[in-house]
Amino acid sequence: MRDPKATKPAGAAPQSPHAAQLERGFPRLRFEPGLEEEFKSVHRRETLPQIRRNLWLGIAFLIVFAILTHMVLGPETSRQLDLIRTATFVPLLLITLVVVHSRWYERLYPIVCLIGAPLFGIGAVAIAVIAATEGVSLLSAVVLVTIYIYFMLGMTFYPALASALVVFVAYAVAAQMAELGTAPMTIDLSVLAFTNVIGAMVGYSLERANRTNFLEERLLIETASRDGLTGIHNRRFFDEHIDTLWPQAIRDRSALVLLLVDIDHFKAYNDYYGHQAGDECLRQVAVCLSRSARRPLDVTARYGGEEFAVVLYDARRDHAEEAARRIRAGIEALAIDHAASPAPEKRLTVSIGAACVEPVPGRSCFGFIQLADEALYAAKERGRDRTVIMDKEYAQLSTGAFRKGAAAPEDSLSTVV
Ligand code: GH3
Ligand code: MG
Ligand code: MG
Repeated sequence: MRDPKATKPAGAAPQSPHAAQLERGFPRLRFEPGLEEEFKSVHRRETLPQIRRNLWLGIAFLIVFAILTHMVLGPETSRQLDLIRTATFVPLLLITLVVVHSRWYERLYPIVCLIGAPLFGIGAVAIAVIAATEGVSLLSAVVLVTIYIYFMLGMTFYPALASALVVFVAYAVAAQMAELGTAPMTIDLSVLAFTNVIGAMVGYSLERANRTNFLEERLLIETASRDGLTGIHNRRFFDEHIDTLWPQAIRDRSALVLLLVDIDHFKAYNDYYGHQAGDECLRQVAVCLSRSARRPLDVTARYGGEEFAVVLYDARRDHAEEAARRIRAGIEALAIDHAASPAPEKRLTVSIGAACVEPVPGRSCFGFIQLADEALYAAKERGRDRTVIMDKEYAQLSTGAFRKGAAAPEDSLSTVV
């Protein structure tokens, strides 16, 4: 049989917010609200180790500068500079260090940066202007602080730009007040202005690349968990999901429902209408099924070929019955002709096998899936176009021997038509 997935390129998830954002673009370096939060949170988490390292680098840089200025400036000026350092740099660095090692990092760090970075810059400006009055140029320190704000603090573009511009304006004002002279001031401000232009240009490009990477990475993860033909989740995702859901259900003492939905006489459908029509039919069935699992932990997946799986979390037998009823009503509403069906209605139908269990420690989800499979088998055996639900049978289930054994007597199965 030819690979049906080859009929359509591996598609992205339907209505993927990441794909939509990539397509729309983000010239202002801003995503849609939900995505923006997600990006910022990932960005903060990923940059944390670098930020911690860069803070120590900043401290080293400050100590070296302090020693050097002590060597070239007179004692009175040195004392003034030490006072500024103790009043601004020390508390700012201490607060930042505490924040980047605390569990409030994600919430507090952006605020600390937004207030701390310009204040730090103003401190550096004060030092540079005081040193300039003694004929020592420390403009290079202000340049370094500007670069540090753009690239070393993990700040996003706009807050970094705003902080760096505050430093620039502070320098212009302070130099004017200290009457450094028009010519040296013009040169200093030009150097600072160019530093800002370069910082802003590179910072903007970096954040664009960062954001694009973020969207592409998410899209890749999403695409790998989706079925290329129908766009719903694939078997791999289903397996991973149920593996995590099972222990969670044990912890929460939640019941689980698994519905296995298999299209009836689909081989005959394919043979009669062709594979393309078969593919289209699978897509329609998938859309219909995906409406039945809408809560966050519920999942609809293509389990294989023309078989689908729907997992419902914290759901019991009545939920299973209701979901199965809705699914079969939905398929009926699709009104897909099936002229090759041996059934008299000549319409496309599905059989559903449902398992309802309360996961307990010591049992694996393997038996749960097997139970739904048994129920599906029973639904097929009993003539298709129906639902069989198994719940009590789980207690008797000994993996691998259920179907052949008499564990599924007619009266222990319930059929919801
Ligand atoms: P039953 O009622 O017992 O389920 O019979 P059936 O014909 O549906 O089941 P069977 O397992 O014999 O055949 C399944 C068919 O599903 C065979 C295969 O051609 C078709 N199929 C599986 N995957 C795809 C697909 O991706 N696209 C299309 N068009 N057909 C597919
Ligand atoms: Mg089938
Ligand atoms: Mg099948």
